[in-house]
This record gives sequence, structure tokens and C-alpha cells, in this order.
Amino acid sequence: ALSEKFERILKKLRGQGVLTEDNIAEALKEVRLALLEADVNFKVVKDFLERVREKAIGQEVLKSLTPGHQVVKVVWDELRGMMGGERSGISLASRPPTIVMMVGLQGAGKTTTSGKLARLFKSQGKRVLLVAADPRRPAAGDQLASLGHDLGIDVHRFDQVDASRADVVRICQRGVERAQEQGYDLVVLDTGGRLHVDDELMAELVAVKQAVNPHEVLLVADAMTGQDAVNMAGQFNQQVGLTGVILTKVEGDARGGAVLSIRAVTGQPIKFLGMGEKLDALEPFHPDRMASRILGMGDVLSLIEKAQETFSREEAEAAQKKLISSTFTLEDFRSQLGQMNRLGSFEQILGMLPGGQKLKDLANSGLPEKEMKRVAAMIDSMTARERRDHTLINGSRKKRIARGSGTSVQEVNRLIKQFLQARKIAKVMSGGAGGRRQLAQML
Ligand code: GDP
Ligand code: MG
Repeated sequence: ALSEKFERILKKLRGQGVLTEDNIAEALKEVRLALLEADVNFKVVKDFLERVREKAIGQEVLKSLTPGHQVVKVVWDELRGMMGGERSGISLASRPPTIVMMVGLQGAGKTTTSGKLARLFKSQGKRVLLVAADPRRPAAGDQLASLGHDLGIDVHRFDQVDASRADVVRICQRGVERAQEQGYDLVVLDTGGRLHVDDELMAELVAVKQAVNPHEVLLVADAMTGQDAVNMAGQFNQQVGLTGVILTKVEGDARGGAVLSIRAVTGQPIKFLGMGEKLDALEPFHPDRMASRILGMGDVLSLIEKAQETFSREEAEAAQKKLISSTFTLEDFRSQLGQMNRLGSFEQILGMLPGGQKLKDLANSGLPEKEMKRVAAMIDSMTARERRDHTLINGSRKKRIARGSGTSVQEVNRLIKQFLQARKIAKVMSGGAGGRRQLAQML
């Protein structure tokens, strides 16, 4: 998967003292390969790497927490930017109804997604009208009607007023008129698709668009089709004109290649992601989350940002040195809790280290914020000697510490276990190539 590759690449970059033009170039060669293998459009990859290179080389890198972290951040910022920066949903028109036209190939998920959108807006108290605008396939209308029935949402189908069953433009016009007359907030036009892009389909969609002047023209595209989806999106955008894209079946595509490319090729934002067949499986698209997902690093980047604000580079290095040395004691652990507080939870810190998510799972020693206070109280209840040498803490001392801190012996035991685990992991990770191999075995 792309995320695994990135993790490997970024691991390589981390822990290097200085980032030179050479090793950036080397790293980017691997990023390039990974992106291409993930089915990202060739030209998109080229542009992407160019921007990363420009930003990574130069002063900014030197000012960062560590050079490796800085490159991670540049890659992430670029990924996020490529996918649209801020999230964008569907904004309702100031004068209802908001007209949403769904377009796309057959089987992409237009009808399902129309239902999902209707459900979403209904849950926000909006009145939604679904329009079955695929008269050539009566089954498509039945499918929408049954969705509407399940969701308690009205569905408009062709009626006597329509010139013929095949007159898609007329059906859409009638649907919009009805939505206007009957005070709906939102009208969703579920148009028909073909197996492939063809002129007739495009002409029909253009005609509908001209007739009803929709606020949104949303392309529904199957993420599983990768590069085909990208080409198709380009064609729809050129010939019909889109305002956004909804990617479906994303739960089956861990690569993220289509997401990256579609945005870059069409210039249109991805608005939602379909994450399953069920009607609640629709998620707003968050570029930053998707970027993190592609990088496979959870919250690491927002942490880096925070770390840049709160930690100077020297402070970070000193803390790290202390953490990995065997002289690290409970006393140091206590004083680090304060710093961790500034950064976020212990769990997040673990996530920030190489190995990220897996490491978190392995250690399973995350300290939620509220637990942090209890840990601090336990350490504060120890004597100075106990803090410096945890092996002194026997059964009766544990009881005393638990009483003094208002906790339990089990909690004291857990604290010591977590402390030892953190120390071990930090030590292993700092052990260069050998340590990384050892860590890989542990994971
Ligand atoms: P249309 O021809 O574009 O209207 O496509 P449909 O809405 O009929 O969907 C085609 C198939 O894709 C159906 O079996 C849907 O259940 C399925 N589908 C739609 N969206 C998703 C999704 O996000 N994830 C998965 N796994 N299946 C989906
Ligand atoms: Mg359909």
C-alpha cells in the first residue's frame, strides 16, 4: 500500500542529521515510484515532486524541529493542498431549492449516493426530492423509488406531462418545477449513465444542465477504477462542467491514487467519499485526513506543527537523549509529563515516533489526558529515592504510594510497566539500523 511505502521512505529520512539536496532527491525518487504505483497520474506526480523539492530544499528545512520531520511536513502540506486544502461540502442556495445534478458512468454509485445525500440533508431537517432521471432503465427508477421509500424521502418519476419516457431533460425540468412549487430545500437529479463515456450521454447531460441550471454538478466516480476514473473525470469536466466529485467505494481502495489525481486533473474539489453500500456510509471529504491516511501517520503532522511551536530543537534533542539513555528515571518521566501535556497525550507522542500507529498498538500504553494527572500524583507520592530507582518499589511501598495519590496498587503497577515499556521502545528506536531491525521484529 502507498501508506506503507511512505512510512518506509519517511523512516529513512528520519534520524538523519542533515538533509542535503542529494538525499532529498533520493527520497523523492522513491516517493515518485510509490505514487506511480499507487496509480497517481504521471503528470500529477511530476508536478507534485517539483513543488516538494522546491519547498524542501532551502532555509525552511534548517529551521525545523528535525530535517526529517520537516520533509514529512512538506510532503503532507503538498498532498493536502493538492486535494483542495480546506474541506468543501454542498452549500445550500440562498433561494431554495438547491439543485444537485448527479452524473457518472453506470455502476459508479449515482443512485446510491443520491440516496445517501438525501438522507444526510434530511437528517439536517431539510426537505429533499429525489428525481429518477434514468428513464431508459426502468429498474433504475425502481431502485431509487425503493431507496426513497426506505428513507422516507419523496421520489419524482416521469408522469403524463412528460413527452416521453426517454425525455430526460423534460423529467428533470418537471422535477425541479415540482421542488419549487412544493417548497423542497434540495432536489437531487439522479441521471442515467453508460458503461463508457459517449457523445450521446454527454449531449444529454449538457442539455439537462442548460435546462435546469443546477447549483452543483457532481461527478460520481468509482475509486476502484483508478486511472480510468481520472481520465473519465477529465472528460466529464471538459464536456459537461463539474462543480465537484464524489468518490465511491473508497473503503476498498487504500491507495488513494485516484483521489490525488482527480482533484489535480479536474481542478474540482472532492466533496464526499462513499465508504460502503449502506446509506449512512457517506463521509465529508477532509483533505488533511486523507493526506494523513496516505502517509499512514495519523496525527503526526499536526503534532509536528504543535511541536514546532512549543519545543525548540535543542530542547527536543535533550529530551530525546535523556529518554533513550538507561539513566532515564521516574523522576525524568515525571518532568516529561509536563512537556507531554503541552504536546498532547502520550499516545500521540508515540504515534509521532517512527513506526507510528503500529508502535502505539504495540505499546498500548497511551495515557489519556485525564490519566496524566493520576500518573503525576503517583510519582509525586514516591520518595526521591524511589523516583530515581524504581526497583526499590516493593509491595508495601506500592500500597503507600497508592494511598498517598488516591489511586490503587494496580495503577501503580501499571505505571511502572508503562514506564519500563516506554524506556525500552525509545532505546530500541534510537539504536540505528540494528535497533530498527529489532523494532521491526517486535512489530
Ligand atoms: P449507478 O449505476 O451509478 O446509479 O450505481 P448504483 O448506485 O446503482 O451502485 C452500483 C453498485 O455500487 C451498487 O451495488 C451499490 O451498492 C454499490 N455502491 C455504491 N456506492 C458504494 C460505496 O461507497 N461502496 C461500496 N462498496 N459499494 C457502493
Ligand atoms: Mg443508477
